Amino acid sequence: GVTPWYGTSRASIDLDAISDNVRELDRRAGDASVMAVIKADAYGHGLVPSARAALAGGARYLAVAQLAEAVSLRRAGVDAPLLTWLFAPGDDLTEAVERDITLSAGASWAIEAIGAAASATGRTVRVHLKVDTGLGRGGSWGDGLDQVLRRAAALQAEGAVEVEGIWSHFAWADAPAHPTVRAQQETFEEICEQARRIGLAPPLRHLANSAATLTNPSAAYDMVRPGLSVFGLSPVPDLGSPEDFGLREAMRLTARLVNVKPAPAGQGVSYGHEYVTETDTTLGLVPLGYSDGVPRHAGNAGPISVNGTWHTVAGRVCMDQLVLDLGASSTAAAGDEVVLFGRGVDGEPTAQDWAEAAGTISYEIVTRLGARVPREYV
Ligand code: PLP
Repeated sequence: GVTPWYGTSRASIDLDAISDNVRELDRRAGDASVMAVIKADAYGHGLVPSARAALAGGARYLAVAQLAEAVSLRRAGVDAPLLTWLFAPGDDLTEAVERDITLSAGASWAIEAIGAAASATGRTVRVHLKVDTGLGRGGSWGDGLDQVLRRAAALQAEGAVEVEGIWSHFAWADAPAHPTVRAQQETFEEICEQARRIGLAPPLRHLANSAATLTNPSAAYDMVRPGLSVFGLSPVPDLGSPEDFGLREAMRLTARLVNVKPAPAGQGVSYGHEYVTETDTTLGLVPLGYSDGVPRHAGNAGPISVNGTWHTVAGRVCMDQLVLDLGASSTAAAGDEVVLFGRGVDGEPTAQDWAEAAGTISYEIVTRLGARVPREYV
């Protein structure tokens, strides 16, 4: 279907930035290759165009969390190697298997379901075994892991699966010196050895997310698995900006002022009047709200650039709109473009600035961008 394209707001996505970021991550990964994580609609940037841009930049593999995301990539004609890890007991894996999607097995039920899908389709299913090295989230450990490894080895001997990968995820990759980082790597290496003893030597061992890819070369193994940095954002803003890491932000979120009007001193603004004008001033209305992904927590805090000058959201962010206090001498007019975030150049705020204003992380700022904000690919 065609989405009507009006002028209220726009997320411009720089696909060359995505390609260049992947190229830089690949360079940093040394001999390891890049699996670009493009879950959650490519962190809000649009699944299919981002997939193609990541592949153009040299990504060898793609990854999405949910099976439905993987299937939609295939249906759109993206045929690169593709890993997915979230599906539920009882899900029909037939289409995934027929479309050559690599499935993660992090629990006994999952390896059984994959084995059953292999029998049902007569195909060999490519599998990456998910092991929990200490995050305490997905994957198996202890006796459960032993069971998964043995079952995977048996299915591989039968030709039902090809165990191509073994993988895990860090708890504290954003604090590279944290002792759990080293401990998880040691556990990962021990588990790879445990797998090898029962005949499993998967060629793709992967552990590093963006933070580890950028700060910890020893975690690269055979493949790195960055997400946020593919889109040019820093997972460790205290350790380095995107620019410091050779990355650039791919998304720029803009809107157009739809109402500009004078207001007297002492005027309450937006619901609950949590902002009150101090002087005679000008109010500007921005047609973006929390349903578009602008955090409600950024009321009285979020930065927006109007003709190169920063203004802070005045009062509460509403569902579809928010207000700026533009000052008495503002020359802004209805139709002027405002920038919520971009590359941080020319006075523009960044997604990281918004994260700080809302008490969250840049991941949440971009992934929560609402479906009704049109994406424009440049
Ligand atoms: N691997 C897994 C399992 C993930 O859940 C994620 C995202 O959270 C990533 C890799 C990519 O992480 P990042 O966006 O921090 O690079």
